[in-house]
Amino acid sequence: MRIFTRSETLRLPPWRQKFIKRSKIQPVYKHSLEKVEGIGKKLGLYFEGGKTEEADIVVISMGRIPNSNLFRRKVKMDQKGFIIVDAKTQKTSVPNVYACGDVTDASGPQPQAMIAAGNGMIAGYTIVEDFLKEGVMPSSL
Ligand SMILES: Cc1cc2nc3c(=O)[nH]c(=O)nc-3n(C[C@H](O)[C@H](O)[C@H](O)COP(=O)(O)OP(=O)(O)OC[C@H]3O[C@@H](n4cnc5c(N)ncnc54)[C@H](O)[C@@H]3O)c2cc1C
Repeated sequence: MRIFTRSETLRLPPWRQKFIKRSKIQPVYKHSLEKVEGIGKKLGLYFEGGKTEEADIVVISMGRIPNSNLFRRKVKMDQKGFIIVDAKTQKTSVPNVYACGDVTDASGPQPQAMIAAGNGMIAGYTIVEDFLKEGVMPSSL
């Protein structure tokens, strides 16, 4: 297995770098993919500068963009568009609006399903507490 990256390093936490060093995964640096094309039963990878490679399976991973446009200019976001939340409550900059999961700045550099689910639990508890402060018990969430 090879990882082609256009950069000179793998932007991974140190423990993942160590894992890759010990594995049979081979990083290939400074390779910018331009096109993938079927060649018979194989796949042809075409890189900037004319280099080509063949592969059986290609998995493409090209960064992470939060799907938060709907809330742009409505709740506070960081420069990349992640919704800024208070990690203890999942509250956004707007009262009674809560956010959880990958779309928030609290999801961290390695977003995981369990983190998103945990955020959801915290938001749920916060919402109930906020309702109770108003003297109202929500019938559903
Ligand atoms: C390739 C890959 C592998 C992964 N592997 C793992 C793993 O092994 N273990 C792990 O813990 N995590 C893994 N993750 C991360 C995990 O999938 C996410 O952290 C998790 O799904 C985040 O949950 P979420 O609810 O925040 O967002 P999502 O799961 O992305 O859910 C957001 C939902 O909102 C919907 N939506 C978007 N816009 C709108 C709209 N306008 N109206 C209505 N609905 C809308 C979307 O359709 C989607 O269903 C992986 C992620 C990827 C991409």
